[in-house]
Amino acid sequence: MRIDIITVVPELLASPLNESILKRAQESGHAEIYVHNLRDYTDDKRRTVDDYPFGGEAGMVMKIEPVYRCIEKLKSERDYDEIIFTSPDGITYNQHEANRLSLMKNIIILCGHYKGIDYRIREHLITREISIGDYVLTGGELAACVIADSVVRIIPGAIGDEASALTDCFQDNLLAPPVYTRPAEFNGWKVPDVLLSGNFAEIEKWQDEEAWRRTKALRPDLIEK
Ligand code: SAH
Repeated sequence: MRIDIITVVPELLASPLNESILKRAQESGHAEIYVHNLRDYTDDKRRTVDDYPFGGEAGMVMKIEPVYRCIEKLKSERDYDEIIFTSPDGITYNQHEANRLSLMKNIIILCGHYKGIDYRIREHLITREISIGDYVLTGGELAACVIADSVVRIIPGAIGDEASALTDCFQDNLLAPPVYTRPAEFNGWKVPDVLLSGNFAEIEKWQDEEAWRRTKALRPDLIEK
């Protein structure tokens, strides 16, 4: 899978996309992630990417032309399954959407900044608008990292132990059961006996029960879905 991220602050994306599982997924060829600096698509000396809003409100707005040039260039090189804009008024991101995106071949993620982006970009070029929650960030870069991270880790083969991604929260609409590691007792705090029993059928049954119990207690809305 290929992800192209368009931003005015490429520095913000460097470390989250180049460590741990995302780094390995790129090294093993499961994912390609490219960050494009919008300023490279400007045509003035000062590399201007923003301008004053019509109507005279406070704040600056991302200009059309650099975004248009960058997206058109990418589109001329390959077909994109989705051109995403990160926005607090988009659909709320969740595991279902991450799963959906992970099946795609090429996606673009456009990060907004300042007061937002000239609305015509959203009307004419964007195919999907995604919010990572009901709060406002300074820019879409962190949202793009959230999307890239959650998508890449479920590309088949990207995580060493593939089963591991399938037992995470929200797959099957259930929260994950608790996990423990050694020592089996610390400070008098014990790991549930069943996990030390070596009886895998019992362990699996316990994990299922715990997943249901925690989901009912903490997120009953998931079960109603
Ligand atoms: N004036 C805008 C917010 C601008 S915040 C409004 O009220 O809707 C600047 C940029 O940060 C946005 O264009 C968007 O790309 C990004 N952003 C902010 N909050 C976000 C969120 N919850 N999810 C995804 N992107 C977000």
